[in-house]
Amino acid sequence: MKDIIQKAIEGGWNDEECYTLGDWRKLNIDRACLDPLFWKALGKKQEWPDKICMNCGAVNLSICCDGTKLSGWQYQWHRFIDHLSNGKDVESFFINLI
Ligand SMILES: [Zn+2]
Repeated sequence: MKDIIQKAIEGGWNDEECYTLGDWRKLNIDRACLDPLFWKALGKKQEWPDKICMNCGAVNLSICCDGTKLSGWQYQWHRFIDHLSNGKDVESFFINLI
């Protein structure tokens, strides 16, 4: 998780508002994961594609199913929510992401 946070910071994310009240050393991961700027910065650092098909996951849209297109960070955020809704935890999503 530390690597993910570091990459988001390198991508321009400001983590200051996500520290637990009363303890500046403890980053609130849940709060970070609800911050669109966290996902945008991570996507910038990881160079996620500008457009990904929500339906088939195609990056090369010439072979796409014509589904809804999202920017890379939005696509990954949707995948993250799906991951949580399947009963999995935050850390296991990010382990496979970078
Ligand atoms: Zn598609």
